[in-house]
Amino acid sequence: VEDRHRALLQGTRQIAREVLAPRAEATDQAEGPPVENLRVLAEAGLLGLTTPQEYGGHGAPGEVIRAFMEILAGACGVTTFLLFQHLGACGQIARGENEKLKEELLPRLARGERFCTLAFSHLRRPGPPAVRVEVEADGYRFHGVAPWATGWDVADELLLAGTLPDGNSVWVVAPAIESQALQPSPPMRLCAASASNTVSLTCNGLKVGRERRVKTLPREQLAEDTFTGLLGHSMLSLGVAFTAATLVRARGEARDLPALVAAAEALEREAAAARRDVEFWAERPAVPEYRRNVVRIRAWCIDVGARAAQAAVIAGGGAANSLDQPAQRLYREALLYSVTALTPDLQAAAMERLTGRPAILRAEEGSLAGQAPPLADGSHP
Ligand SMILES: Cc1cc2nc3c(=O)[nH]c(=O)nc-3n(C[C@H](O)[C@H](O)[C@H](O)COP(=O)(O)OP(=O)(O)OC[C@H]3O[C@@H](n4cnc5c(N)ncnc54)[C@H](O)[C@@H]3O)c2cc1C
Repeated sequence: VEDRHRALLQGTRQIAREVLAPRAEATDQAEGPPVENLRVLAEAGLLGLTTPQEYGGHGAPGEVIRAFMEILAGACGVTTFLLFQHLGACGQIARGENEKLKEELLPRLARGERFCTLAFSHLRRPGPPAVRVEVEADGYRFHGVAPWATGWDVADELLLAGTLPDGNSVWVVAPAIESQALQPSPPMRLCAASASNTVSLTCNGLKVGRERRVKTLPREQLAEDTFTGLLGHSMLSLGVAFTAATLVRARGEARDLPALVAAAEALEREAAAARRDVEFWAERPAVPEYRRNVVRIRAWCIDVGARAAQAAVIAGGGAANSLDQPAQRLYREALLYSVTALTPDLQAAAMERLTGRPAILRAEEGSLAGQAPPLADGSHP
């Protein structure tokens, strides 16, 4: 890691500690997004983390971006979730094919003059496309409903993807402005990051000019890109795990309860081991077992994040049920981080971890139903 990136992470830790964490519960329960937090991060130059240097950003490597996400997620979920979309969008635009768009947009996004969100997770859903795209002479016309877009009203730009008649997808940056052609739902009421103004977006023939095209993605490439992203999502769960373990330890030390201190140590060790696995496999995308391991690690991170947060709730006692306590906020955030960029593979791997049973049995191993004990009336569940 270069010194300048190390300095950025140090700055992030300070902002997380002094600005984000102390007001995280208030931010969580607020009516709208934490624009002040975003301003502080923008002033520190952190909105340009994923933008290459030639476009005014920091061109931080994956390792630094992952550490950044872990620090933020340990401090404030709403802020993290908003920034996750912005940084993801900047990275996508930078890796895209439209040089003119990069020159025009990326420096402003990196400085935080403009904020970007994204809506492309619907591409991963099977069945008829949620968002269809018609190609016209001078651009693209979008129809359908994008089920998720976080940061409406905060975002000036929207990285939007839709499916072409041939099954490939086209990605554009559209102005995030409500109109007859682009209708946001009311902000969703969510268990976590509810203040992130997450909406669904209905496109009624939304026209986007060719000059705003980022890329066209072949269908097969989508799965590849999803895998690349999974390790980044893992860091959100790890951020929760480390902060939750700190809460468990603090309570254990304050009340002289060795079981709590020991649990905190075990959770920290486990989260650190998962983090080592993340970094090990992040370096090895060409190894044949890469995908299986990435899915395994993400499922592990989801699991340890949720367990650590639950431990913090139990350590916090009845008071941890109060909405102004960090433990249950972290628990709700751990739930949210369990479903981002979800794929059937990841669902299966998470089920395996949670039940201690392989998701798929070989024929000779028999059926799960056959192995379960009978109910009281002798029937099988
Ligand atoms: C609060 C919140 C904010 C979000 N913000 C954004 C955002 O800003 N931008 C964005 O792009 N995304 C966003 N997402 C989406 C997120 O990244 C995940 O894609 C999403 O949580 C997974 O659920 P889903 O509703 O997309 O998929 P689901 O439809 O629930 O599918 C989950 C998995 O099951 C599979 N599946 C679904 N239906 C079937 C079926 N019939 N047969 C077999 N497999 C099936 C899918 O392929 C997928 O792998 C957000 C999600 C949440 C919860």
